Amino acid sequence: MALLVSKFGGSSVASIEKIKHIATRVKAMKKDGNDIVVVVSAMGDTTDELIALARATGSEKCYREMDMLLATGEQQSASLLAMTLNNMDCKAISLTGWQAGIQSDSTYSKAKISGMANQRIFNEINQGNVVVIAGFQGISPEGDITTLGRGGSDTTAVALAASLNAEKCMIFTDVDGVFTADPRIVADAKKLSKVSYEEMLEMASLGAGIMHSRAAECAMFYNVKVEVGNSFNNSPGTLITEVANMEKHRVVSGIAHDKNCARIAIFDVPDKPGIAMVLFKALAKVGINVDMVIQSAMRDNRNDIAFTIEQDDLEKAVPVMEKLVKEICASGMSYVDDVAKVSIVGAGMQSNPGVAADMFEALAEEDINIHMISTSEIKVSCLIDLCEIEKAVKVLHKKFALDKLV
Ligand code: ASP
Ligand code: MG
Repeated sequence: MALLVSKFGGSSVASIEKIKHIATRVKAMKKDGNDIVVVVSAMGDTTDELIALARATGSEKCYREMDMLLATGEQQSASLLAMTLNNMDCKAISLTGWQAGIQSDSTYSKAKISGMANQRIFNEINQGNVVVIAGFQGISPEGDITTLGRGGSDTTAVALAASLNAEKCMIFTDVDGVFTADPRIVADAKKLSKVSYEEMLEMASLGAGIMHSRAAECAMFYNVKVEVGNSFNNSPGTLITEVANMEKHRVVSGIAHDKNCARIAIFDVPDKPGIAMVLFKALAKVGINVDMVIQSAMRDNRNDIAFTIEQDDLEKAVPVMEKLVKEICASGMSYVDDVAKVSIVGAGMQSNPGVAADMFEALAEEDINIHMISTSEIKVSCLIDLCEIEKAVKVLHKKFALDKLV
Protein backbone atom coordinates (compact mmCIF):
# COMPACT_ATOMS: atom_id res chain seq x y z
CA MET A 1 0.00 0.00 0.00
CA ALA A 2 1.43 3.33 -1.05
CA LEU A 3 0.59 6.93 -0.33
CA LEU A 4 0.10 8.77 -3.60
CA VAL A 5 -0.40 12.48 -4.18
CA SER A 6 -2.24 13.33 -7.42
CA LYS A 7 -2.75 16.82 -8.70
CA PHE A 8 -5.37 17.72 -11.28
CA GLY A 9 -5.01 21.03 -13.11
CA GLY A 10 -7.74 23.49 -14.06
CA SER A 11 -8.49 21.88 -17.41
CA SER A 12 -8.99 18.47 -15.74
CA VAL A 13 -11.68 19.82 -13.40
CA ALA A 14 -13.22 22.32 -15.82
CA SER A 15 -16.74 20.81 -15.68
CA ILE A 16 -18.76 18.35 -13.60
CA GLU A 17 -18.37 15.90 -16.47
CA LYS A 18 -14.59 16.12 -16.15
CA ILE A 19 -14.72 15.99 -12.37
CA LYS A 20 -16.70 12.75 -12.70
CA HIS A 21 -14.08 11.41 -15.04
CA ILE A 22 -11.18 12.09 -12.68
CA ALA A 23 -13.22 10.85 -9.71
CA THR A 24 -13.41 7.47 -11.47
CA ARG A 25 -9.63 7.49 -11.76
CA VAL A 26 -9.13 8.47 -8.15
CA LYS A 27 -11.53 5.77 -7.01
CA ALA A 28 -9.62 3.16 -9.01
CA MET A 29 -6.31 4.21 -7.42
CA LYS A 30 -7.90 3.93 -4.00
CA LYS A 31 -9.34 0.52 -4.85
CA ASP A 32 -5.87 -0.68 -5.75
CA GLY A 33 -5.12 -0.31 -2.06
CA ASN A 34 -3.39 3.08 -2.04
CA ASP A 35 -3.88 6.00 0.31
CA ILE A 36 -4.78 8.97 -1.81
CA VAL A 37 -4.28 12.70 -1.38
CA VAL A 38 -5.61 14.78 -4.27
CA VAL A 39 -4.73 18.40 -4.97
CA VAL A 40 -6.93 20.38 -7.33
CA SER A 41 -6.70 23.68 -9.21
CA ALA A 42 -9.68 25.91 -9.77
CA MET A 43 -12.17 24.88 -12.49
CA GLY A 44 -11.09 26.00 -15.99
CA ASP A 45 -10.64 29.77 -16.15
CA THR A 46 -12.10 30.45 -12.71
CA THR A 47 -9.00 32.21 -11.40
CA ASP A 48 -8.96 34.59 -14.39
CA GLU A 49 -12.65 35.26 -13.94
CA LEU A 50 -12.18 36.07 -10.26
CA ILE A 51 -9.34 38.44 -11.16
CA ALA A 52 -11.63 40.17 -13.66
CA LEU A 53 -14.28 40.62 -10.96
CA ALA A 54 -11.72 42.13 -8.62
CA ARG A 55 -10.54 44.51 -11.36
CA ALA A 56 -14.10 45.67 -11.81
CA THR A 57 -14.06 46.91 -8.20
CA GLY A 58 -10.89 48.88 -8.95
CA SER A 59 -9.22 47.30 -5.92
CA GLU A 60 -7.22 44.48 -7.44
CA LYS A 61 -4.13 45.85 -5.70
CA CYS A 62 -5.59 44.94 -2.26
CA TYR A 63 -3.44 41.86 -2.15
CA ARG A 64 -4.87 40.42 1.07
CA GLU A 65 -8.39 40.56 -0.29
CA MET A 66 -7.25 39.20 -3.65
CA ASP A 67 -5.89 36.09 -1.97
CA MET A 68 -9.08 35.69 0.04
CA LEU A 69 -10.99 35.81 -3.25
CA LEU A 70 -8.74 33.69 -5.46
CA ALA A 71 -8.49 30.90 -2.88
CA THR A 72 -12.22 30.28 -3.30
CA GLY A 73 -11.65 28.91 -6.82
CA GLU A 74 -9.77 25.87 -5.55
CA GLN A 75 -12.25 25.39 -2.71
CA GLN A 76 -15.04 24.98 -5.24
CA SER A 77 -13.31 22.27 -7.19
CA ALA A 78 -12.11 20.49 -4.03
CA SER A 79 -15.57 20.24 -2.53
CA LEU A 80 -17.16 19.28 -5.87
CA LEU A 81 -14.64 16.47 -6.32
CA ALA A 82 -15.20 15.25 -2.75
CA MET A 83 -18.97 15.28 -3.31
CA THR A 84 -18.59 13.37 -6.57
CA LEU A 85 -16.37 10.75 -4.94
CA ASN A 86 -18.77 10.27 -2.03
CA ASN A 87 -21.58 9.86 -4.51
CA MET A 88 -19.58 7.03 -6.10
CA ASP A 89 -19.21 5.32 -2.73
CA CYS A 90 -15.63 6.39 -2.38
CA LYS A 91 -15.25 8.10 0.99
CA ALA A 92 -13.69 11.55 0.58
CA ILE A 93 -13.32 14.83 2.39
CA SER A 94 -12.16 18.20 1.08
CA LEU A 95 -9.84 20.53 3.00
CA THR A 96 -8.75 24.10 2.41
CA GLY A 97 -5.02 24.85 2.48
CA TRP A 98 -5.16 25.94 6.09
CA GLN A 99 -7.25 22.97 7.19
CA ALA A 100 -4.59 20.80 5.58
CA GLY A 101 -1.92 22.59 7.64
CA ILE A 102 -0.15 24.35 4.78
CA GLN A 103 1.68 27.24 6.38
CA SER A 104 3.17 30.08 4.36
CA ASP A 105 4.82 33.44 4.75
CA SER A 106 2.74 36.61 4.40
CA THR A 107 3.65 37.62 0.82
CA TYR A 108 0.15 37.80 -0.58
CA SER A 109 -0.21 36.59 -4.18
CA LYS A 110 3.29 35.03 -4.17
CA ALA A 111 3.49 33.34 -0.76
CA LYS A 112 6.09 30.68 -0.08
CA ILE A 113 5.30 27.54 1.88
CA SER A 114 7.07 27.67 5.23
CA GLY A 115 5.84 24.55 6.96
CA MET A 116 3.42 21.66 6.93
CA ALA A 117 1.31 20.45 9.85
CA ASN A 118 0.04 17.17 8.44
CA GLN A 119 -1.86 15.69 11.38
CA ARG A 120 -5.31 16.41 10.00
CA ILE A 121 -4.43 14.78 6.69
CA PHE A 122 -3.18 11.63 8.40
CA ASN A 123 -6.28 11.53 10.60
CA GLU A 124 -8.50 11.67 7.54
CA ILE A 125 -6.48 9.00 5.75
CA ASN A 126 -6.79 6.78 8.81
CA GLN A 127 -10.55 7.24 8.67
CA GLY A 128 -10.40 5.78 5.17
CA ASN A 129 -10.95 9.05 3.35
CA VAL A 130 -9.52 10.23 0.06
CA VAL A 131 -8.29 13.67 1.10
CA VAL A 132 -8.97 16.36 -1.51
CA ILE A 133 -6.96 19.51 -0.85
CA ALA A 134 -7.50 22.93 -2.39
CA GLY A 135 -4.26 23.79 -4.19
CA PHE A 136 -2.46 27.12 -4.47
CA GLN A 137 -3.18 28.33 -0.93
CA GLY A 138 -1.83 28.47 2.58
CA ILE A 139 -2.19 30.33 5.84
CA SER A 140 0.12 33.13 7.00
CA PRO A 141 1.51 33.48 10.54
CA GLU A 142 -1.16 36.16 11.05
CA GLY A 143 -3.85 33.64 10.20
CA ASP A 144 -4.72 35.11 6.80
CA ILE A 145 -5.31 33.15 3.62
CA THR A 146 -2.46 33.43 1.11
CA THR A 147 -1.99 32.18 -2.44
CA LEU A 148 1.20 30.76 -3.88
CA GLY A 149 1.38 32.50 -7.27
CA ARG A 150 -0.26 31.56 -10.58
CA GLY A 151 0.04 27.86 -11.28
CA GLY A 152 0.85 27.27 -7.61
CA SER A 153 -1.20 24.09 -7.14
CA ASP A 154 1.75 22.11 -8.53
CA THR A 155 3.84 23.44 -5.68
CA THR A 156 1.14 22.47 -3.17
CA ALA A 157 1.17 18.93 -4.55
CA VAL A 158 4.94 18.48 -4.56
CA ALA A 159 5.33 20.02 -1.11
CA LEU A 160 2.63 17.70 0.24
CA ALA A 161 4.26 14.69 -1.40
CA ALA A 162 7.56 15.66 0.24
CA SER A 163 6.15 16.20 3.71
CA LEU A 164 3.86 13.15 3.65
CA ASN A 165 6.70 11.06 2.33
CA ALA A 166 4.53 9.93 -0.56
CA GLU A 167 5.72 7.28 -2.96
CA LYS A 168 5.01 9.49 -5.95
CA CYS A 169 3.49 12.80 -6.94
CA MET A 170 1.42 12.56 -10.10
CA ILE A 171 0.68 15.80 -11.93
CA PHE A 172 -2.28 15.28 -14.24
CA THR A 173 -2.76 17.80 -16.98
CA ASP A 174 -4.20 18.03 -20.50
CA VAL A 175 -1.05 16.89 -22.31
CA ASP A 176 0.68 13.50 -22.26
CA GLY A 177 3.83 14.69 -20.54
CA VAL A 178 6.92 16.76 -21.16
CA PHE A 179 7.68 17.11 -24.87
CA THR A 180 10.82 18.02 -26.78
CA ALA A 181 8.98 21.22 -27.79
CA ASP A 182 5.45 22.58 -27.64
CA PRO A 183 3.48 20.09 -29.78
CA ARG A 184 1.20 22.92 -30.89
CA ILE A 185 4.21 24.42 -32.70
CA VAL A 186 6.22 21.34 -33.64
CA ALA A 187 3.99 18.60 -34.98
CA ASP A 188 6.62 15.88 -34.58
CA ALA A 189 7.65 16.82 -31.05
CA LYS A 190 8.35 13.70 -29.00
CA LYS A 191 7.25 12.89 -25.50
CA LEU A 192 10.20 12.40 -23.16
CA SER A 193 9.89 9.34 -20.93
CA LYS A 194 12.29 10.76 -18.36
CA VAL A 195 13.78 14.14 -17.57
CA SER A 196 16.16 15.07 -14.80
CA TYR A 197 15.16 17.53 -12.08
CA GLU A 198 17.62 20.04 -13.46
CA GLU A 199 16.19 19.84 -16.95
CA MET A 200 12.62 20.13 -15.67
CA LEU A 201 13.57 23.12 -13.56
CA GLU A 202 15.06 24.87 -16.59
CA MET A 203 12.12 23.96 -18.80
CA ALA A 204 9.61 25.08 -16.17
CA SER A 205 11.27 28.42 -15.62
CA LEU A 206 11.72 28.89 -19.36
CA GLY A 207 8.00 28.84 -19.84
CA ALA A 208 7.37 25.32 -21.08
CA GLY A 209 4.05 25.61 -19.26
CA ILE A 210 3.97 22.06 -17.92
CA MET A 211 4.81 22.68 -14.33
CA HIS A 212 5.27 25.56 -11.89
CA SER A 213 9.01 26.20 -11.59
CA ARG A 214 8.81 26.36 -7.81
CA ALA A 215 7.29 22.88 -7.87
CA ALA A 216 10.24 21.59 -9.91
CA GLU A 217 12.59 23.26 -7.45
CA CYS A 218 10.81 21.68 -4.49
CA ALA A 219 10.82 18.24 -6.15
CA MET A 220 14.56 18.49 -6.77
CA PHE A 221 15.32 19.66 -3.24
CA TYR A 222 13.30 16.97 -1.50
CA ASN A 223 13.90 14.27 -4.09
CA VAL A 224 10.22 13.75 -4.82
CA LYS A 225 9.51 11.37 -7.66
CA VAL A 226 7.12 13.25 -9.98
CA GLU A 227 5.21 11.93 -12.96
CA VAL A 228 3.49 14.27 -15.40
CA GLY A 229 0.69 12.69 -17.39
CA ASN A 230 -2.64 13.17 -19.12
CA SER A 231 -5.77 13.01 -16.99
CA PHE A 232 -7.82 12.04 -20.04
CA ASN A 233 -5.90 8.93 -21.12
CA ASN A 234 -3.71 6.23 -19.63
CA SER A 235 -0.62 6.61 -21.78
CA PRO A 236 2.56 6.69 -19.70
CA GLY A 237 3.68 10.20 -18.82
CA THR A 238 7.09 11.71 -18.16
CA LEU A 239 9.01 10.75 -15.06
CA ILE A 240 10.94 13.57 -13.41
CA THR A 241 13.64 12.12 -11.29
CA GLU A 242 17.29 12.04 -10.44
CA VAL A 243 18.98 10.40 -13.37
CA ALA A 244 22.69 9.80 -13.22
CA ASN A 245 24.36 10.08 -16.63
CA MET A 246 20.99 9.99 -18.25
CA GLU A 247 21.06 9.10 -21.92
CA LYS A 248 24.52 10.43 -22.49
CA HIS A 249 23.90 10.64 -26.21
CA ARG A 250 21.14 13.16 -25.64
CA VAL A 251 22.84 16.52 -25.73
CA VAL A 252 19.71 18.66 -26.05
CA SER A 253 16.50 17.34 -24.49
CA GLY A 254 14.09 20.07 -25.41
CA ILE A 255 13.37 23.47 -26.91
CA ALA A 256 11.54 25.77 -24.55
CA HIS A 257 10.09 29.13 -25.40
CA ASP A 258 8.60 32.01 -23.48
CA LYS A 259 6.49 34.77 -24.97
CA ASN A 260 5.98 36.51 -21.64
CA CYS A 261 9.08 38.70 -22.04
CA ALA A 262 9.82 42.39 -22.18
CA ARG A 263 13.14 44.17 -22.61
CA ILE A 264 14.19 47.43 -21.02
CA ALA A 265 17.34 49.25 -22.12
CA ILE A 266 18.99 52.11 -20.23
CA PHE A 267 21.35 54.30 -22.25
CA ASP A 268 24.62 55.97 -21.30
CA VAL A 269 24.76 54.70 -17.76
CA PRO A 270 27.81 56.11 -15.90
CA ASP A 271 30.38 53.33 -15.65
CA LYS A 272 31.05 53.11 -11.93
CA PRO A 273 30.66 50.56 -9.16
CA GLY A 274 27.24 50.25 -7.59
CA ILE A 275 25.11 51.30 -10.57
CA ALA A 276 23.86 47.81 -11.42
CA MET A 277 23.04 47.33 -7.78
CA VAL A 278 20.91 50.48 -7.71
CA LEU A 279 18.98 49.43 -10.83
CA PHE A 280 18.31 45.85 -9.84
CA LYS A 281 17.65 46.56 -6.16
CA ALA A 282 14.91 48.97 -7.20
CA LEU A 283 13.28 46.23 -9.28
CA ALA A 284 13.68 43.62 -6.54
CA LYS A 285 12.02 45.99 -4.11
CA VAL A 286 8.84 45.96 -6.15
CA GLY A 287 9.03 42.17 -6.57
CA ILE A 288 10.22 42.10 -10.20
CA ASN A 289 12.47 39.28 -11.32
CA VAL A 290 15.17 40.15 -13.83
CA ASP A 291 16.08 37.41 -16.27
CA MET A 292 18.68 38.19 -18.97
CA VAL A 293 21.10 41.08 -18.57
CA ILE A 294 23.67 42.60 -20.93
CA GLN A 295 25.98 45.51 -20.50
CA SER A 296 27.71 46.97 -23.52
CA ALA A 297 31.44 47.64 -23.68
CA MET A 298 32.38 50.95 -22.11
CA ARG A 299 32.86 54.10 -24.19
CA ASP A 300 33.57 57.54 -22.65
CA ASN A 301 32.97 56.09 -19.19
CA ARG A 302 29.43 55.20 -20.09
CA ASN A 303 27.68 52.04 -21.22
CA ASP A 304 24.22 50.72 -21.99
CA ILE A 305 22.49 48.16 -19.83
CA ALA A 306 19.61 46.07 -21.15
CA PHE A 307 17.65 43.41 -19.32
CA THR A 308 14.50 41.35 -19.64
CA ILE A 309 11.60 40.90 -17.23
CA GLU A 310 8.21 39.22 -17.48
CA GLN A 311 5.90 41.19 -19.74
CA ASP A 312 3.30 41.28 -16.97
CA ASP A 313 5.74 43.28 -14.85
CA LEU A 314 6.45 45.94 -17.48
CA GLU A 315 3.78 48.34 -16.27
CA LYS A 316 5.24 48.23 -12.78
CA ALA A 317 8.87 48.47 -13.92
CA VAL A 318 8.69 51.44 -16.32
CA PRO A 319 7.92 54.19 -13.77
CA VAL A 320 10.56 52.81 -11.40
CA MET A 321 13.16 52.89 -14.19
CA GLU A 322 12.14 56.31 -15.50
CA LYS A 323 12.77 57.74 -12.08
CA LEU A 324 16.13 56.01 -11.79
CA VAL A 325 17.31 57.12 -15.23
CA LYS A 326 17.20 60.70 -13.92
CA GLU A 327 18.75 59.83 -10.57
CA ILE A 328 21.76 58.05 -12.05
CA CYS A 329 22.13 60.59 -14.88
CA ALA A 330 21.67 58.13 -17.73
CA SER A 331 20.62 59.67 -21.06
CA GLY A 332 17.36 57.75 -21.50
CA MET A 333 15.64 54.42 -21.78
CA SER A 334 13.50 52.32 -24.09
CA TYR A 335 11.32 49.29 -23.66
CA VAL A 336 9.68 46.73 -25.94
CA ASP A 337 7.34 43.82 -25.36
CA ASP A 338 7.41 42.25 -28.82
CA VAL A 339 10.29 39.95 -27.91
CA ALA A 340 10.40 36.30 -26.88
CA LYS A 341 12.93 33.84 -25.55
CA VAL A 342 13.85 30.55 -27.15
CA SER A 343 16.07 28.09 -25.27
CA ILE A 344 17.75 24.78 -25.72
CA VAL A 345 17.89 22.65 -22.57
CA GLY A 346 19.84 19.47 -21.94
CA ALA A 347 21.86 17.91 -19.17
CA GLY A 348 24.23 16.52 -21.80
CA MET A 349 25.33 20.00 -22.85
CA GLN A 350 27.81 20.29 -20.01
CA SER A 351 30.17 17.86 -21.68
CA ASN A 352 29.57 18.80 -25.30
CA PRO A 353 31.23 21.98 -26.53
CA GLY A 354 29.87 23.69 -29.60
CA VAL A 355 26.20 23.32 -28.75
CA ALA A 356 25.67 27.05 -28.42
CA ALA A 357 27.40 27.63 -31.76
CA ASP A 358 25.05 25.11 -33.38
CA MET A 359 22.10 26.99 -31.97
CA PHE A 360 23.33 30.36 -33.28
CA GLU A 361 24.04 28.78 -36.66
CA ALA A 362 20.51 27.40 -36.93
CA LEU A 363 19.03 30.79 -36.11
CA ALA A 364 21.38 32.60 -38.51
CA GLU A 365 20.45 30.25 -41.35
CA GLU A 366 16.87 31.39 -40.93
CA ASP A 367 17.90 35.04 -40.70
CA ILE A 368 16.67 35.29 -37.13
CA ASN A 369 18.37 38.11 -35.27
CA ILE A 370 19.52 37.49 -31.69
CA HIS A 371 19.09 40.43 -29.31
CA MET A 372 20.41 38.87 -26.12
CA ILE A 373 22.00 35.62 -25.01
CA SER A 374 22.22 33.94 -21.64
CA THR A 375 23.59 30.57 -20.66
CA SER A 376 23.76 28.15 -17.77
CA GLU A 377 25.42 24.76 -17.54
CA ILE A 378 22.47 23.04 -19.14
CA LYS A 379 20.78 25.69 -21.27
CA VAL A 380 21.33 28.44 -23.81
CA SER A 381 18.67 31.11 -24.26
CA CYS A 382 18.31 33.73 -26.98
CA LEU A 383 16.01 36.71 -27.01
CA ILE A 384 14.54 37.25 -30.48
CA ASP A 385 11.61 39.06 -32.08
CA LEU A 386 8.27 37.68 -30.98
CA CYS A 387 7.11 37.24 -34.58
CA GLU A 388 9.94 34.73 -35.20
CA ILE A 389 9.47 32.56 -32.14
CA GLU A 390 7.59 29.70 -33.79
CA LYS A 391 10.03 29.53 -36.66
CA ALA A 392 12.92 29.48 -34.17
CA VAL A 393 11.42 26.63 -32.13
CA LYS A 394 10.92 24.61 -35.32
CA VAL A 395 14.41 25.09 -36.73
CA LEU A 396 16.08 24.31 -33.41
CA HIS A 397 13.99 21.17 -32.96
CA LYS A 398 15.21 20.06 -36.35
CA LYS A 399 18.80 21.17 -35.85
CA PHE A 400 19.16 19.03 -32.73
CA ALA A 401 17.30 16.11 -34.36
CA LEU A 402 14.75 15.95 -31.57
CA ASP A 403 12.19 14.53 -33.98
CA LYS A 404 14.45 11.47 -34.24
CA LEU A 405 14.62 10.92 -30.49
CA VAL A 406 13.73 7.41 -29.42
N1 ASP B 1 -5.86 28.40 -10.12
C1 ASP B 1 -4.56 28.97 -9.99
C2 ASP B 1 -4.14 29.55 -11.34
O1 ASP B 1 -4.89 29.48 -12.28
C3 ASP B 1 -3.54 28.01 -9.49
C4 ASP B 1 -3.30 26.79 -10.34
O2 ASP B 1 -4.00 26.56 -11.30
O3 ASP B 1 -2.37 26.05 -10.03
O4 ASP B 1 -3.09 30.08 -11.46
MG1 MG C 1 -4.75 27.16 -13.38
